Amino acid sequence: PGASMYEFVRSHESGARTYANSIDVVIERGEGTAVFDTAGRRYLDFLMCAGTLATGHNHPAVLERIQRFLQSGHVMQVLDITTPAKHDFLTRLLECLPSPWASRARVQFCGPTGADAIEAALKLFKTATGRRSVIAFHGAYHGMTAGALALTGNLSAKRHVASLMPDVYFMPFPYAYRCPFGLGGKLTSQVSLAYIERALTDPESGIPHPAAMVVEVIQGEGGVIPANVDWLRGLRQITARLDIPLVIDEVQTGIGRTGTMFAFDAAGIEPDAIVISKAIGGGFPMSLVVYDKKYDVWQSGAHAGTFRGNQIAMAAGTACLDVIRDEQLVTAAQAKGEYLGGRLAELAAQYSIIGDVRGRGLMWGLEIVDPTARPDAIGSHPANREMALALKHRCLRNGLILENGGRYGAVLRMLPPLNVSLDEIDEAVTILAQALKEASD
Ligand code: PMP
Repeated sequence: PGASMYEFVRSHESGARTYANSIDVVIERGEGTAVFDTAGRRYLDFLMCAGTLATGHNHPAVLERIQRFLQSGHVMQVLDITTPAKHDFLTRLLECLPSPWASRARVQFCGPTGADAIEAALKLFKTATGRRSVIAFHGAYHGMTAGALALTGNLSAKRHVASLMPDVYFMPFPYAYRCPFGLGGKLTSQVSLAYIERALTDPESGIPHPAAMVVEVIQGEGGVIPANVDWLRGLRQITARLDIPLVIDEVQTGIGRTGTMFAFDAAGIEPDAIVISKAIGGGFPMSLVVYDKKYDVWQSGAHAGTFRGNQIAMAAGTACLDVIRDEQLVTAAQAKGEYLGGRLAELAAQYSIIGDVRGRGLMWGLEIVDPTARPDAIGSHPANREMALALKHRCLRNGLILENGGRYGAVLRMLPPLNVSLDEIDEAVTILAQALKEASD
């Protein structure tokens, strides 16, 4: 039955399919870090819906809460009317924010996707400041809707779209390994900050006073590129000095993923807004903008969206936050992430096609390179991408789901659940090592 189900879906679904093209099975069940196909074969899921399932597949406590909610007779959708589910969710969410900031926070519930909340944030800050330009970063990813795509740094995602939101200005993200400007290790945090400050203050740069700066603390789709805490603090100082609202996109990094509740927590800064989605819905679609109340300029109805009140997502999200607290999964993500990072560094020492190992918490990337070429040699990128894809396919065939990404598609990415076990990490590393060995033979 699996093969005919697969074929039926494949022949009717859009050409934008990704995974489904390289994994010709039907995934039926999930439990913890594993998923199972219709033939009962087990795969370790080190992708978790791009980091969405923080507590793994079907965590019993999350399942139990969803079942209890469904049986309770509570409403499922009520636009933005107050409900007990919303009250409980908001209470838990605010507990997760750094404390002085939480007391000033306002929350806009948005539609189901991260891109939805990015659009809301753009609209809010354009309204609040009366300005129209926006600052984004090379290599950034913020989603596929028109405004979010305009902020996405890599051209490949938007090359074929004729018109996008105008007035977006891109700044250099501190990515020294394969610097897109060919600067290699010279694109340090200080150089990036110096450039940004100059570009935003020099009247000759032609950048109008921006409505917002939107940034990821660790670029995820962009190839797992962590910015260091000093860079983020520097960015906060510059934006505060120049009165530019700082919007941090925590869609992928939020909810414990990087070993702190939010990635910006590590820098101890206060942003003007954060955008949250993925893990916050406990596996159900939800997105939010949390922002400083001084920007709360919206009048009733100024922002809307039918599914901004998905009650199951609120119940599941509350359960997920409870599990993360009760099982101390943020600290676990930090410790297990260090272990995973160490194991990946061992592989890098063994296989020269791993050029760089980067990550924080349970968000890791391996940059695949041609060891005989300079890391920033443009010509080697297509071959590196092919190699990354070949490794990904080998891992899939051998029972490990991961993702490739990055500006050139040459970064293998891992986003296991926060409650992944050390044994599962070892198992995944063994499968990856086997794929690397086969590729190097
Ligand atoms: N921002 C970041 C940092 C993301 O990683 C993503 C999705 N990968 C998005 C925004 C967009 O979220 P969605 O796919 O739910 O629209």
